[in-house]
Amino acid sequence: MREKAKTKGKPRVRSNHKAAAQCSCGAVALEIDVPARWAWHDHSAASRRAHGSAYATYVGSWRSRCRITRGDEHLARFVEEATGHTRSFCARCGTPMLYERAHAPQMVNIPRALFTARTGREPLYHVGIGELQDWTYLGAPLVPLKGFPGVVWERTKRKKRVETDVLFE
Ligand SMILES: [Zn+2]
Repeated sequence: MREKAKTKGKPRVRSNHKAAAQCSCGAVALEIDVPARWAWHDHSAASRRAHGSAYATYVGSWRSRCRITRGDEHLARFVEEATGHTRSFCARCGTPMLYERAHAPQMVNIPRALFTARTGREPLYHVGIGELQDWTYLGAPLVPLKGFPGVVWERTKRKKRVETDVLFE
C-alpha cells in the first residue's frame, strides 16, 4: 500500500525492467531501462559500413537510463570527423556497441541485435531510407535451394543456375 501511495498521481519515471546487451565475445555488457525511448533502422552509408551489414537497427535510450555493466575498459571509441558522431565498439571482438550522435547528446543508440530480451520498442522508424540498397533483403518469398540443405533463396523468373553453382563451389 505504501508503494502505491508513493507513485500516486504521476507515472513512475524509473523502471524496474531492464534489458541486457553484450558484444560477441562477452567482454562488454550493458543494460538499459525498459521501455527504450525509440527504435529505428539506419540505412545511412556510415552505419552500413560500421556494421558491415545492409542496415543497422538501433534502440535509442536516454543516456541516463543506459549503463555499461561490464568491460568499460574494452570499449574503443571512434569519432566520425565529418559529423562528430561517436561509435564505440568492443576492442576485443569488434562488435559495434554504442552510437552517439552529436546533435542528440542526451541519447545513446545501441544495436538491437545485441539485446537478448525485448526492449519495449518496435523499430518502426527508418533513417536514410533514400540510401536503401537494392540488394537488401525485404522479405520476398523464399524457397529451398535444391541440393543445399538449410539454404533458401529468392527464386527469380530467369534461370540463374550458373550463378548459384559458382556461389557454392
Ligand atoms: Zn567483445
